[in-house]
Amino acid sequence: GGQVSLEKPGRLDEEDLVRITNRDRLIFPEAKVTKGDLADYYEAIGPAMAPWALGRPISLVRCPQGRAKKCFFQKHDAGSFGEAVRHLDIREKDGGVEPYLYVETIVGLLACVQMGTIEFHGWGASVSDIEKPDRLIFDLDPDPAVGFDDVKKAADDIRSTLEEIGLASFAMLSGGKGIHVVVPLTPKAKWPEVKDFAQRFALSLAQAEPERFIATMSKAKRKGLIFIDWLRNQRGATAILPYSARARPGAPVAVPLNWSELKTVESAGLYSVKDVKALLKRAGSAVLQGWGEAAQVLPDI
Ligand code: ATP
Ligand code: MN
Ligand code: MN
Repeated sequence: GGQVSLEKPGRLDEEDLVRITNRDRLIFPEAKVTKGDLADYYEAIGPAMAPWALGRPISLVRCPQGRAKKCFFQKHDAGSFGEAVRHLDIREKDGGVEPYLYVETIVGLLACVQMGTIEFHGWGASVSDIEKPDRLIFDLDPDPAVGFDDVKKAADDIRSTLEEIGLASFAMLSGGKGIHVVVPLTPKAKWPEVKDFAQRFALSLAQAEPERFIATMSKAKRKGLIFIDWLRNQRGATAILPYSARARPGAPVAVPLNWSELKTVESAGLYSVKDVKALLKRAGSAVLQGWGEAAQVLPDI
C-alpha cells in the first residue's frame, strides 16, 4: 500500500497522511490506469490544480470499482472521507441546509481519490464567499455532428466577443467533447446577476448566428449546432476543474491552454493522466503564465 504524505507550510502531522488502498485496482481498464496511478497523478499535479480546486465547494464523480462500473455524482458530505475533507453548510433553494464538500489541501484531494473519486467538479465561488462567483464559464457542448475545428473557432469567437466588452477569458479542454471558456471575476456581483449576464450573452450569440449556436437546452434542436451551456453559472452548479481526470475511456484530463495553442489542438481529450510530466512542465512554463487570472467585473450590457 502506498502512503502519501505532503507537507503543508508549517505543519505535517497524522492528518496529512492518506493511505491509498487497493493501489492495483484497475480504474481505467482500457488505459490500464490503476487506483495507485490515479493517486500518483493527483499527488503530482496537485500544485498546479490547487489554485482552482482548493477552498471551493466541490462535487465528485466516484467510481469505486472503476470507470466502466457504476459511478455516482456526489454533492454532499457523507461523513466518511476523514479529516482532510471538510464540509460547509449551504442553504439550498428549498430552504434546507446541506453539507457541501471542500478541501483545503492536496491531501484532501487524495482522500477523495482513496474514496474512489475520479472527477473533481467545482462551484464558481470560494467557500469564503459562496454568494459571489469568482468565475464564469461558457461550456461549449457540440452536437456530435460538429467538427472540433468548429468548436475551436466558436471558443475563439467567444473570446473576442468577450474582449470587446472588456472581459479577458481563457480556454480549457474539458477532457470530454468540448471546450470551456473561463472568465475570471473579482467576486462582486451575486449569482442571479452573473447567471443573467451569462444567459443574455449566450442568447445573443445564438440569435446572431442560429446556424452555429443554440443557447437552450433542447437536445432535439441541437443537430449540427454548438450548445453554449451558460447553466454552469447558477448557484449550486459545478463545472469540471482544471486538471481533473475524466471518467471516460483513456483517462483524459481537463487542461488549460493558451489561445494560440488551442489553434493546433485536434481534440478535447488531448492529454491523459499518463501525460503528467508534460502537464506539469506546461503548468510551470510561460505558455500558461497568467492563465485564469484577471481582475475584472461584469460590464453593463
Ligand atoms: P464535455 O466537454 O464532454 O461536455 P463537460 O465536463 O463539459 O464535458 P457537460 O455534460 O457539458 O460535461 O457538463 C456537465 C456538468 O454538469 C458537469 O461539469 C458537472 O459539474 C455538472 N453536473 C451536475 N450534475 C451532474 C451529474 N449528476 N453527473 C454529471 N455531471 C453533473
Ligand atoms: Mn460541456
Ligand atoms: Mn454542458
